[in-house]
Amino acid sequence: MRGAPHAEAEALQNTSDARGATLYVSLEPCVERTLGPPCAPALRAAGIARVVVGALDPNPTNAGRGVALLREAGVEVELAEDARARALVEDFSVSIAAERPYVRLKLAASLDGYVAPQPGSHWLTGDAARAYVRELRVAHDAVMVGAGTVRVDDPQLIVRPPYTRRTPYRRIVVCEDAPVPADSKIFAPVAGYAPTLALAPRGLRERFEPLAAVAELLFAGDDDARTLDLVAALRELKRVGITSVLCEGGPTLAARLLEHGHGSEWPCMNAHPWDALPGEWVPPWMVQRVTSTPAAHWV
Ligand SMILES: [Zn+2]
Repeated sequence: MRGAPHAEAEALQNTSDARGATLYVSLEPCVERTLGPPCAPALRAAGIARVVVGALDPNPTNAGRGVALLREAGVEVELAEDARARALVEDFSVSIAAERPYVRLKLAASLDGYVAPQPGSHWLTGDAARAYVRELRVAHDAVMVGAGTVRVDDPQLIVRPPYTRRTPYRRIVVCEDAPVPADSKIFAPVAGYAPTLALAPRGLRERFEPLAAVAELLFAGDDDARTLDLVAALRELKRVGITSVLCEGGPTLAARLLEHGHGSEWPCMNAHPWDALPGEWVPPWMVQRVTSTPAAHWV
């Protein structure tokens, strides 16, 4: 988790004597940190004899530096460059390489392609899937929904039970050309959370003024933009330090993300209720087919 102690530091803290040990890490040990001491020098100082590294640091300015530092110190380093290790740090890799956060799109869809049993009801999936979503929220910097979801479902989007995060958790509402009500639950202050972000077109600043008292407004696009440029909006999120976002809908926002994504650009799509297979591609027809007809109730 961002801002938390790195796994190497935790491991050394839990070991009375690490001299001569072999350490297995998914990601190359770091050489520089803004919070806390860097890991590679700490491993060297602890007398670790051998380090097996799953993947190099995806940040081009740091890639290979941890491995080099350890080798220069006489530590044996084995570089696995394993696809599964790289998958573990995909959020981090994408946020470094792209001018936007890593976006994971979570959809609840029945096998016949419906995304909600009826307007205002979002319990298409069962308890296990909902518990998984709560875990997913914790693993991202922010959770994001469209204005329609706020107007219809009025979700709080909080994480239960409360998790301690070093970086405050964010809630985001994506507005197209009109603000959502200022008394929506998503704006209600929660201890330990940063103010909710409302994304809006830059040309409609005055229209969104009523939200300024309850939300942090982030305007995207040109000065005369009257509809939201989603790509510019995601860029704004990256600018304010958000590196990963869980998008929880609704269907309009999901469809726009897919439309802009050109497939593999959006690296991970989770389709419930198949118990969320990371990497599963959700075909666009699934998010475009929205209906008020009750669909199958999933457990
Ligand atoms: Zn580290």
